[in-house]
Amino acid sequence: MLYRSTRGNGKVVGASAAIIRGIAEDGGLYVPEEFPKITKSFQELGDMKYRELAFYIIKKYFDDFSDAELRECIDRAYDEKFENSYIAPLNYKAGAYFLELYHGKTLAFKDKALSILPYLLKTAAEKIGMTKEIVILTATSGDTGKAALEGFDSVDKTKIVVFYPKDGISEIQKRQMTTQEGKNTFVVGIEGNFDDAQNGVKEIFNDKAFNELLNKNNYMLSSANSINIGRLVPQVVYYVYSYVSLLKDKKIQEGESINVVVPTGNFGNILAAFYAKAMGVPLGRLICASNENKVLTDFVNTGIYDRKREFSVTNSPSMDILISSNLERFLYEISGRDEELINNLMKQLKEEGNYEINEEMKEKLKILYGGFADEKETLAAVKKVYEASEYVIDTHTAVAYEVYEKYKKNTYNDRAAVIASTASPFKFPRSINEVLNFANSSASDFEMVQVLSEKMGLKIPKGIESLDKKEIRHKVTCKKDEMREVIKNFLGV
Ligand SMILES: *Cc1c(COP(=O)(O)O)cnc(C)c1O
Repeated sequence: MLYRSTRGNGKVVGASAAIIRGIAEDGGLYVPEEFPKITKSFQELGDMKYRELAFYIIKKYFDDFSDAELRECIDRAYDEKFENSYIAPLNYKAGAYFLELYHGKTLAFKDKALSILPYLLKTAAEKIGMTKEIVILTATSGDTGKAALEGFDSVDKTKIVVFYPKDGISEIQKRQMTTQEGKNTFVVGIEGNFDDAQNGVKEIFNDKAFNELLNKNNYMLSSANSINIGRLVPQVVYYVYSYVSLLKDKKIQEGESINVVVPTGNFGNILAAFYAKAMGVPLGRLICASNENKVLTDFVNTGIYDRKREFSVTNSPSMDILISSNLERFLYEISGRDEELINNLMKQLKEEGNYEINEEMKEKLKILYGGFADEKETLAAVKKVYEASEYVIDTHTAVAYEVYEKYKKNTYNDRAAVIASTASPFKFPRSINEVLNFANSSASDFEMVQVLSEKMGLKIPKGIESLDKKEIRHKVTCKKDEMREVIKNFLGV
């Protein structure tokens, strides 16, 4: 399996090289030359444990890893770090299947990919005989950062630098990152929003002089954002897993398709669902749920992508994004892999802040349904689900639930639906409390976690237990244009 850039520089690379580089030289994203097909029966896949299924799917994409290498990566990633032995349990509540992707160390779905990426990267580097130390550069809207820090904490021959928007994330999210241990970890608050952080990181990747300076000092940059194919592919697994589990449990009939609802920011998670569909999993409509930063809702409904709008900080902060990087991979597929066209669209986005796709692409865009929920609707959805089934969902999952409700109303479609539950409610206790009123609003976020635990009868997840007592180790903040300097200081170059 070879990978090429969406922007068409013509060079192809193997999986290991694509994972190590993170982003192609021309600024495009690596995509598989073709989608591998599922050749085993869904019954057979339904009998597999999560790890076995992960091996079956990931091996098809990363075929330059030996069976033993890949098995080791998977075994080390999906172990007892996950506080639920199913790794990705499905829970039927209030009319939908909630796919709980948040039982990993940092309480967000990002753990699914970021607990395996460090092993993939390290194995890939060894395979190609790389001697340089890898520096992972990551922009985070709140959850990627912590998941990446945990994944790379103390992994030899790697360093990780995380940039988060200083004022745009929840108290728990911030504390999770600023208390991070590990000598190879660096966390920086940026004076700006997620897009600023992500653009800054992308510019650094494309900065030849900066890369040369690092190279001279025996460092090499790589990415833990979902622009890295090594992050995307492990996410395909749980969509396959959902479908075959529902089939095995006779919740759906053979041949029946299901809808998937994904609370979306950078378009990585929903793109993984699209990849699963392309591999042959009978997924129906992919429902793309946004918050008030509804650039994707507008795009899906009009074919016009326009990032020139007010950026809102919302109660689903991990989705506060106006430039969804992974959409580029989706555009590539629906354009019939027209590299020149993608190049033009991305250039236009950069220079003018918007673009419109052609009629043929608009037709193919109908695989998606786009909708959004504002902050009030999001909180109302938390309440609705709680009242219907005493089940507490977080605000991101609530955005998805609300958009799913709108979808049903608008389309009369009653296909079974899987909602990607992307974060644990324990991560956003203040917002949850605003509508469920479990604790007094003057309580701290940590006290709210305690009360939430008592009310739900659930243990506080290990990832945030005693977080308030940990030492704050990372206090650096910087302006957008100081990111390079900050990195140089960390690395001592
Ligand atoms: C990252 C994140 C999202 C958005 O996922 P994308 O892959 O960026 O679309 C949604 N919810 C939560 C909780 C997240 O952490």
